Amino acid sequence: MSEEPELPPLPAIGDILDRKDRFIQKVYSVVNCKDCKKEYTREFKKGDYTFKEIENEKCQECEKTTKAMITEIYSEWIDPKKVKDNIIP
Ligand SMILES: [Zn+2]
Repeated sequence: MSEEPELPPLPAIGDILDRKDRFIQKVYSVVNCKDCKKEYTREFKKGDYTFKEIENEKCQECEKTTKAMITEIYSEWIDPKKVKDNIIP
């Protein structure tokens, strides 16, 4: 047996690492206002967790400082090079 199995090309790990380095992780919380019952997304604040009740949250919809609840937390990777072109909420 002299025939060597042909190995598949390795994934470009360097590329992946570069991307992780370059991208910024942004975390958002989806907040449900108890006053106007509307949902909006704002930047994640320390201590936020899903189904957390917040006492003094300024609603972005009705602009009242009222009770609210976090319904969802999600994150996304942002390419800083694209931030200039896109408006990030
Ligand atoms: Zn509201």
